[in-house]
Amino acid sequence: MREGNRRVLVITAHPDDSEFGAGGLVARLVKEGREVAYVVVTNGNKGSGDRSMTPDRLARIREEEQRNAARTLGVVGVEFLGYEDCEVEETRDLRRDVTREIRRWRPDLVICQSPNRTPNLGASHRDHRIVGGVVLDCVYPLARDHMAFPELLPEFEPHKVREVYVMQWERAQLVVDITDTMDLKLQALACHASQFADFAGVEARVRERSATLGKRKGYAYAEAFDRIVLSR
Ligand SMILES: [Zn+2]
Repeated sequence: MREGNRRVLVITAHPDDSEFGAGGLVARLVKEGREVAYVVVTNGNKGSGDRSMTPDRLARIREEEQRNAARTLGVVGVEFLGYEDCEVEETRDLRRDVTREIRRWRPDLVICQSPNRTPNLGASHRDHRIVGGVVLDCVYPLARDHMAFPELLPEFEPHKVREVYVMQWERAQLVVDITDTMDLKLQALACHASQFADFAGVEARVRERSATLGKRKGYAYAEAFDRIVLSR
């Protein structure tokens, strides 16, 4: 990991996406002294099988769970953009909101989801793909160019992100050793209690997938990313 990447912003579609895709890396970055913040685009208010649950109540629960998970990992702040779960569209409003958050946090490194559909349907949820694509469009060129979204000036000055890690499940360019932070990742994941009827089953799947990702590098557990370098 590059020394210069002091500030890190993880931008995802739903509460719990950061922990699933990058919780081990986030814990590692925090331990190394980097400042990590989250932006969560939707309020996650559709993710329940409980027929007595309402979208408003679920949104409040999921926000609280996400804040607890972030605190567990040492993340300094969580910004919720409040978009409706499962209804994210690729709009100017969303591009402006994500651009504003990048300009607000001024990260060196952005971590986001993949804009591509993969055979792993959970990892290529429609909201994930749309948010992943929008984040990349905002990193370059929208956050950088002062004439993009003139309404954001003067409060949110243009910003150049140096590097992006895109969560990846197959043939990833970058395999990150999370053996030492696996326990913290699982603790943070467990904060999202509304999402798991059977956390033991979730833990087993997460361990198995992380072990598979780590195999080719000889790590007990890993997370995997594609890497985009914008400035050296
Ligand atoms: Zn998700």
